[in-house]
Amino acid sequence: MLRVAIDGPGGTGKSTIAKAVAEKLDLEYIDTGAMYRSIALKCLNKGISVDNEAAVIEMLGETDIDFVSSKVLLDGEDVSGMIRTNEVSMAASTVSKLGPVREKVDAVTRRLASTKNVIMDGRDIGTFVITDAEVKIFMTASPEIRAKRRYEQMLEQGKEADYDQIFREIQERDYQDTHRDLHPLMQAPDAVYLDTSNMSIEENIEEVLKIIDMKK
Ligand code: C5P
Repeated sequence: MLRVAIDGPGGTGKSTIAKAVAEKLDLEYIDTGAMYRSIALKCLNKGISVDNEAAVIEMLGETDIDFVSSKVLLDGEDVSGMIRTNEVSMAASTVSKLGPVREKVDAVTRRLASTKNVIMDGRDIGTFVITDAEVKIFMTASPEIRAKRRYEQMLEQGKEADYDQIFREIQERDYQDTHRDLHPLMQAPDAVYLDTSNMSIEENIEEVLKIIDMKK
């Protein structure tokens, strides 16, 4: 059995790297952040404030989340294309503070990781969700580099982008994700620390493959 957990702050490129490694090693990829994002998307679409705990929890009772073939399904609909906005990023960080929201996503993650060889990315996989994962990596990059990568990615996609605003949002999300009561982002003691600030995507993939080979 091989379960690779990659945790780290937002905008580090965890999902890009995890997807590429999944393909190379024939692992199933699980994007746990996408599931938090889909719950946030449903709140935004329904006009439910993500700060209204009772309303979010009530909505959760009527919400079905799944992750199949690298796609996140919200109530049976593939919403993978709709969850990659800055608004959804912040809203996901806020709903992910709630216990029932985390339990819902954790249950799906644990179910998927119990039957297949997987690579998962998130904030708390190695520390709380799959604590006995065979390989744990804590992947990070400086906030300036993460903001720059996001800024350039948006320009490439033909979107309008404001570096200072992106940088502020990254810092705000880092703060929320590391300071919440439940499952805050932190490095597991047995995780390998990987700073990707000065790595290309190819170098980053190579480093992750090396770590997996060494640890599995
Ligand atoms: O990884 P991604 O940026 O898609 O995650 C969106 C948000 O979901 C994060 O900012 C974080 O608050 C939350 N999240 C989490 N635990 C995870 C994965 C994501 O709390 N395992």
